[in-house]
Amino acid sequence: MQRKISEELYAEAKNYFPGGVSSPVRAFKSVKGAPLFIKKGNGSQIWDEDDNQFTDFCCSWGPLILGHNNDAIREVIVATVANGTSFGTPTRWENKLGKLILNNNRFIEKIRFVSSGTEAVMSAIRLARGVTGKDKILKFDGCYHGHVDSLLVNAGSGLVTFGVSSSAGIPEAFAKETLVAPLNDLDAVEATFKEHGNQIACVIIEPVPANNGLLLQHRSYLEGLRKLCTQYNVLLIFDEVISGFRVGFEGAAGYYDIQPDIITYGKIIGGGMPVGAYGANAEIMGNVAPDGGVYQAGTLSGNPVAMAAGFTAASQLLEEGFYANLEQTTQDFVAKIQSYCDNKGYEVHINTIGSIFWIAFSKDDIRRADQINPDSMEKFKILHAYLLDNGIYLGPSGYEVGFISSAHTTEELANAVDKICQGMDLVHQ
Ligand code: PLP
Repeated sequence: MQRKISEELYAEAKNYFPGGVSSPVRAFKSVKGAPLFIKKGNGSQIWDEDDNQFTDFCCSWGPLILGHNNDAIREVIVATVANGTSFGTPTRWENKLGKLILNNNRFIEKIRFVSSGTEAVMSAIRLARGVTGKDKILKFDGCYHGHVDSLLVNAGSGLVTFGVSSSAGIPEAFAKETLVAPLNDLDAVEATFKEHGNQIACVIIEPVPANNGLLLQHRSYLEGLRKLCTQYNVLLIFDEVISGFRVGFEGAAGYYDIQPDIITYGKIIGGGMPVGAYGANAEIMGNVAPDGGVYQAGTLSGNPVAMAAGFTAASQLLEEGFYANLEQTTQDFVAKIQSYCDNKGYEVHINTIGSIFWIAFSKDDIRRADQINPDSMEKFKILHAYLLDNGIYLGPSGYEVGFISSAHTTEELANAVDKICQGMDLVHQ
């Protein structure tokens, strides 16, 4: 497979951008080779600048649940653009998307559109602090919430610790306001609440942690978290930037039937355009400017082209059976690879929920970040390189999950199963 043009473009990009990319994980630092420059996508397929074709399981890191170049989304984007791209005023499209979401989501009453997941999370944290008048926040080791200062923190050593910033440029004073707890351990949360509860504004969790492997939590754990938050007067934020509109139209809140206090969205909500959002009940959202004192704004927020794309995507997701079919497709896909690996005696377990999957090179029941063996990433590198050579595109890190879209056909998935199984043979040679 020729990658000459991608390699040349990457060499050129390094002159312009740090690491040659606009977002770090694209740089292929965790896998072999150089990043591919993609020029086109259609359905589940993408093409790079060298005209190589791939079945895509990255799907732009999650937004493309309907696949690339969905007809209805493309058409509405083109039609909307014909009237201009941005006005900095309210538009009818915002109302349409807002209404569609709120009418089909039992867990929020009002919503504010922003332009990325990071912005949604940053705003939700500010809202929680504004509502409670408290400063500290609790997050979990293994959850990612975008590049928000107070959330780019790692756990120190010990069970629940004050955060240690994981990026240069974050004042330690910020990191100190963030407590970090392990997932899947309610006792750790309760102990923290007992000690610091009166200072903690909110707990933020990915209810489907999907940024550090797929660390699925038990429903009982999430229910326990809800109870503890209520008991200690701490707001519970579900960061549903990945799980929202992915594990169901109502995201993980609906999937587990748990009412968080604030929910953040991103990715799918924009139908492939840059949109994020946060929502809560009317009382909490009443604190957001201009109704309340928590300031948050955006020049391009509620952009009409992005709203039109989001509305057209969301309308398709509401079609009867959409999620059930996609989940079934994903389960069949995963089951075939899993049974192949089991028959061969390979140490592989594929975690899955909805249309998300993650290949763990371990048989352990992994639910916490510290259970992932970093050495297993060497196996992923072999698999990734083999699949790339054979027309299958996975996100370029073994910690990343894969996504299946409604555009992935039975034949494409069967072919991918074959290639992944061949790759597994190579990994285990
Ligand atoms: N929250 C979660 C759970 C995410 O997965 C991400 C991005 O992957 C973000 C927040 C940040 O979203 P964005 O990259 O749109 O800023």
